[in-house]
Amino acid sequence: MRLDKFLAHTGYGTRKTVKELLKSKQVEVNGKLAKDGKVHIEPESDQVQVAGEKVHYQEFIYLMLHKPQGVISATEDKLHKTVIDLLHSQDRLLDPFPVGRLDKDTEGLLLLTNDGVLAHNLLSPKKEVDKCYEAVIQGIVDKKDIQAFDEGVTLDDGFVCRSAALTVLSTNAESQTSTIQVVIHEGKFHQVKRMFEAVDKKVTYLKRLSMGPLTLDKDLKIGHYRPLTEAEMKVME
Ligand code: URA
Repeated sequence: MRLDKFLAHTGYGTRKTVKELLKSKQVEVNGKLAKDGKVHIEPESDQVQVAGEKVHYQEFIYLMLHKPQGVISATEDKLHKTVIDLLHSQDRLLDPFPVGRLDKDTEGLLLLTNDGVLAHNLLSPKKEVDKCYEAVIQGIVDKKDIQAFDEGVTLDDGFVCRSAALTVLSTNAESQTSTIQVVIHEGKFHQVKRMFEAVDKKVTYLKRLSMGPLTLDKDLKIGHYRPLTEAEMKVME
């Protein structure tokens, strides 16, 4: 990797600021002064210092985001604010992307990373990673719906979902709404909303609580994010 890119990625600013650092003789590679940003370095093995401080290289970034409604799960978009727009510029340096998609009006757990292997493992249909959602449903969810979900509902395009555990948390007779939790095993487009459409009900609020072994941190406010903890990294392995 080029030295200037390495420094930019490790948070020393834009290539222009990095150029100034190099010019002002503040950068050393393996104990030798480096003035040329074009020089090639091995991020894992070369020792880079800026103003006498060792630069720590991080290849991957893993962030847990509590996605708010109103932003889209994409890296860029001409019209809408994306989940990447919620990150501080420092946390965008390693080019994280959202692992899977939550609808614009869905909130909750979203993992952002630049680790393609981990993303593939979580998204691959073969891995059948569980996703748990909480939702508010227009209508009273009853035993028949629980049974239909258990047997596997058929979506509008003919796709038959795997058995999904549907739990009613509460119902409100006055507003004719139900609060539920559902665990699904696939990741079809608008899946939860379409599963409820299959039993003639409408999702009016949707929040993802977990994805595989990763659970949304209850203390993480909507729109906020944080790096995964070591314990979370371990369970993701
Ligand atoms: N199912 C949906 O319908 N929407 C989401 O955002 C996620 C799952």
